[in-house]
Amino acid sequence: MSQQSNSKRIAVIEGDGIGKEVVSVGVALLERLAEARGYQFELVHFDLGADRFLRDGATFPEEDQQTIRETCDAVLLGALGDPRVPSLDYARDILFGLRFGLDLYCNIRPIQCLSDRLMPLKGKSAKDCDMVVFRENTEGIYVNVGGQFKKGTPDEVAINEDINTRKGVERVIRAAFDFAKAHGRGRVHMADKSNAMKHAHELWQRCFREVAADYPGIEAKHQYVDALCFNLIRDPSQFDVVVTNNLFGDIVTDLGAALQGGLGMAASANVHPGRIGLFEPVHGSAPDIAGEDKANPLATVLTIGMMMTHLGWPDEEARLVELVRRAVDEGKCTADVGGELGTRAVGEWVVSQIA
Ligand code: ATP
Repeated sequence: MSQQSNSKRIAVIEGDGIGKEVVSVGVALLERLAEARGYQFELVHFDLGADRFLRDGATFPEEDQQTIRETCDAVLLGALGDPRVPSLDYARDILFGLRFGLDLYCNIRPIQCLSDRLMPLKGKSAKDCDMVVFRENTEGIYVNVGGQFKKGTPDEVAINEDINTRKGVERVIRAAFDFAKAHGRGRVHMADKSNAMKHAHELWQRCFREVAADYPGIEAKHQYVDALCFNLIRDPSQFDVVVTNNLFGDIVTDLGAALQGGLGMAASANVHPGRIGLFEPVHGSAPDIAGEDKANPLATVLTIGMMMTHLGWPDEEARLVELVRRAVDEGKCTADVGGELGTRAVGEWVVSQIA
């Protein structure tokens, strides 16, 4: 990894569909930030995704994995998914290769509504929605442990195991509390289903209580995940930091994306504190609008903000959040958030605003 403080190597994986379009905005933004502020970013482009898979069958070659693992400080990923490859095995290889291969155990998703215009809840305004969700990212039901038995018969059995380790549960809960402490957020909610999933989620309950005891200044609250979903819609202002498992985090954060203006506004980071991080807008490859200059690139702008914090420049993230807020307020945005511009024009406007 780079030793010089302002010199960073960033792996760029455009991926598929609108991933290519939003990453090209992200790259232009990184280049402009480097030019304006003197950062030295070396962008290393990787030819990975459906086009590559269809061309030569490669999904995520070991050589690429090693280069990323050993020489890069961060990865920018667009989106993966292509109707020409229905199995999506290549996408899983890349995404899970990065998440599991780099042990990126925290999936961090800010759910912040940046404009009253984007708030879908009656009687609520943007200020009522500002939380950060920590989703466990390397365990749970996504580990692909299980099997099928008597497939295709009336006695068919299908099993997906839900793996929860003490180490895995504790470290993501601790990361959520560390984040709350570092960012002056006073409350952490843990969401589980310990009333039904008694073994695994008793572990979550116990870890949560034990870790919370190390952070006396932060209020530790619990909600069953069904109640949390109910309350996210009823009164999102009660949430500050939320930590939960892989499956619940996946669902809760999509619900959260609806509170912040849709998938085009939702950013995410996959991190293992102290190591290389993977940064990706939450949305998928959106084949229905791919190649039409309709994709909202603001999620990618917010994602670059998270990357800048990870690389050591949190002020850049704060500035980019304000820039996105202004883009929405001034109508410098795409149709999904009420604007009339295309992806490229929004990107050009964002880049033009970097002083
Ligand atoms: P995946 O399975 O990879 O999550 P998906 O097709 O289920 O993908 P997305 O591709 O994320 O879901 O998006 C669902 C729909 O939301 C898209 O078809 C598109 O219409 C809209 N959408 C998603 N991202 C954006 C964006 N950045 N800008 C505008 N619209 C978007």
